[in-house]
Amino acid sequence: MKDTVVPHADVRSRTVERLVKGMATSDGAGVRLTRVLTQDLQRRLDPFLMLDAFRNEHADDYIGGFPDHPHRGFETVTYMIAGRMRHRDSAGNEGLLESGGAQWMTAGSGLIHSELPEQEAGLMEGFQLWLNLPAASKMVAPSYRDLPSSAIPGFDAGGGVHVRVIAGRSHGVTGAVERPDTEPLYLDVHLPAGTRFTQPLPTGHNAFAYTYRGSVSIAGTVVPDRHMAILANDDGTGVTLEAHEDARALIVAGRPLGEPIAQYGPFVMNTAEEIRQAFADYRRGAFDAASVRAL
Ligand code: MN
Repeated sequence: MKDTVVPHADVRSRTVERLVKGMATSDGAGVRLTRVLTQDLQRRLDPFLMLDAFRNEHADDYIGGFPDHPHRGFETVTYMIAGRMRHRDSAGNEGLLESGGAQWMTAGSGLIHSELPEQEAGLMEGFQLWLNLPAASKMVAPSYRDLPSSAIPGFDAGGGVHVRVIAGRSHGVTGAVERPDTEPLYLDVHLPAGTRFTQPLPTGHNAFAYTYRGSVSIAGTVVPDRHMAILANDDGTGVTLEAHEDARALIVAGRPLGEPIAQYGPFVMNTAEEIRQAFADYRRGAFDAASVRAL
């Protein structure tokens, strides 16, 4: 898609409503990670349900990976900065997620998958973002897309600023994935010291930035390394990141669904009854494509 020119010079940056450091935890088979977007922020950051950041130098902290587990009712977006992870799922998909690449998985009505490191040493770094599905789409058939690094569009924004567009649109560049219901924007912005980057944001979309190298300033608030800045909703027309040192940050935004959120572990539905049903379906093997075919 070719540009409409966006008047970036006219954008007034939203302010930082709150800084969040995230919670150190482990998940899967002992993978150490930081849960940045926790369950108590799901309503505030609707349609986003979770953001995990992982950056582990030592194999012991990631080698167990995430063995077979189910999901229903939402999408997972895994973005790899460094490392190799093998994905397999009960819908028969398999892929290798490598440095700079992403995986976009729609769990929909349900699947079982594993996410296992395909490296025994060295840095493993990346993010997993959970994006909710509207009630009408929670039971769609599962689907899956591998986005190798070469499939993620990027552009230079001047002064050495580089932007990768995983989802949505930025400065006339259309990202690898678009979703009409929530219009998610997912950018990875690399800023040399002394530069800035401005992204317009639609009114009413919930938005946050997450720094993963160095710090940035947003509307006068310093966002330290490895912090999420929740952006105020109604005091600006976009966001401007200013880097006083070399920095990298994610910008994530989307249109809230405004629907009830019922989560239990790997299932995210709208009601407790639907969660109960998800457990019942999982227990009787409905998520396991092999047993479905055998029936
Ligand atoms: Mn998973």
